[in-house]
Amino acid sequence: MAYDDKYEMVCGVETHVEMATKTKIFCGCSTEFGGEQNTHVCPVCLGLPGVLPVLNREVVNLAIKAGLALNCEIAEFSKFDRKNYYYPDLPKNYQTSQYDLPICKNGWLEISVNGEKKKIGITRAHMEEDAGKLVHSGETITTSNSSGVDYNRTGVPLLEIVSEPDMRSVDEVLAYLEELVQIMEYAGISDCKMEQGSVRFDVNVSLRLKGSSEFGTRTETKNLNSFNSVRRCLEYELERQADILDEGGAIVQETRTWDEGKGMTLSLRSKEEAHDYRYFPEPDLMPLVIDRKWVDEIRSAMPELPAAKRQRLQSLGLPEYDAGVITSFKAMADYFDAALEKFDDAKTLANWVMGDLSGLLKANSCSFEDSPVSPVQLAGLLTLIKKGEISGKIGKTVIEEIYKTGKDPETIVKEKGLVQISDEGALEKIIDEVIAANPKSVGDYQAGKENAIGFLVGQIMKATKGQANPGLVNKLLRGKLAE
Ligand code: ADP
Ligand code: ZN
Ligand code: MG
Repeated sequence: MAYDDKYEMVCGVETHVEMATKTKIFCGCSTEFGGEQNTHVCPVCLGLPGVLPVLNREVVNLAIKAGLALNCEIAEFSKFDRKNYYYPDLPKNYQTSQYDLPICKNGWLEISVNGEKKKIGITRAHMEEDAGKLVHSGETITTSNSSGVDYNRTGVPLLEIVSEPDMRSVDEVLAYLEELVQIMEYAGISDCKMEQGSVRFDVNVSLRLKGSSEFGTRTETKNLNSFNSVRRCLEYELERQADILDEGGAIVQETRTWDEGKGMTLSLRSKEEAHDYRYFPEPDLMPLVIDRKWVDEIRSAMPELPAAKRQRLQSLGLPEYDAGVITSFKAMADYFDAALEKFDDAKTLANWVMGDLSGLLKANSCSFEDSPVSPVQLAGLLTLIKKGEISGKIGKTVIEEIYKTGKDPETIVKEKGLVQISDEGALEKIIDEVIAANPKSVGDYQAGKENAIGFLVGQIMKATKGQANPGLVNKLLRGKLAE
């Protein structure tokens, strides 16, 4: 029996996003990913005695921007707090974070699942610093003889975004996460490189009997770093909880971890073992006072966000599905917009971007950012087709040629002699030959088999290597067959 025959799931997610600043949150060290171990470090981010943090203004800019993009209130007064715990990846033995007065609160974003729109509440978003990374000599911490610590990531600015427990299905959770990550990417808050750990999710989930209004006891699975892991983790965890409840058991409120290889969640620590973080105000940083002028400046420079972009594309005549696909990656949406400036038939452009071009890029593991076919070249190609200079079919050859050679479509068409044959005299000659060579099909057509004309058109296209103007061929052929 599936869990959702009897129960309803409730889910809220805490998302950590690494912010796209050049330098760390409290020092001037580089935030660049990778780099030789312990080279992006200084006395401040190593937590050496006697140092003082200085808040990076760009972190605040990005946090305000993220808050606005998520429809949050931006606090006029917020502050930093120390979250105390002892672990080798945290050299200060406390994480500088925000506790009771976060910079952003009370926001929302809108998701759409199977055509149904729903707002998911954002409880809060706060700034904090990332910790370092343990580097194990073996595969995992338990199978290693020794572990080292790389502090390059220590002090990289994070935004933690906490959702309300508003999600009621796995699809809603995925829709929320995808929308959130898109917003973060479009607004330029983060590079959102999931494979580099730029975005990590803590998933809180519980079950309750259908129709019940109270929440059940939840578990929190920490540090998921892909949409796919979240989906698998939720599916596992929901069945696990349902089995316990079915047997009359109780869910233990605990923190769990997702084992990607085993495909299951494992207990890390229960509520009784939970840390007491002994939060207290950070004495080394002034409270943060944000005047409204600062917020207004950031609001007025806000780029177009995914929801607005989807709406604009739909208003240009794209179906909701196409608009969703094109905006799903910012690089793809940027490419589309750049091509649209030179070729204004949005639906035709969308077909080529989502079809032939996506196919070529995928086959070569290339991204839209690095596409060898530039937006201007694609627009040029589509203009040639629209003007009837080449057929759509030849266009498919041309785009491959652009991809391979980088040459402009006009050049390729000229060099390869691909110009569409729209000369009636030339076409009539070929049509006559095809008619003469295929008496059976001609007879079939004339006996009322409409399909037979397709074969004849195919033969004419073949004889012209696809260069005949298909509209004209159809017209001339029908004329001749009716004679
Ligand atoms: P904590 O203070 O323990 O971190 P929070 O109240 O901040 O807990 O909630 C953390 C996350 O858990 C939030 O995203 C919230 O929406 C979610 N959450 C809270 N209660 C439940 C529940 N019963 N079931 C599922 N998710 C929940
Ligand atoms: Zn530093
Ligand atoms: Mg919390």
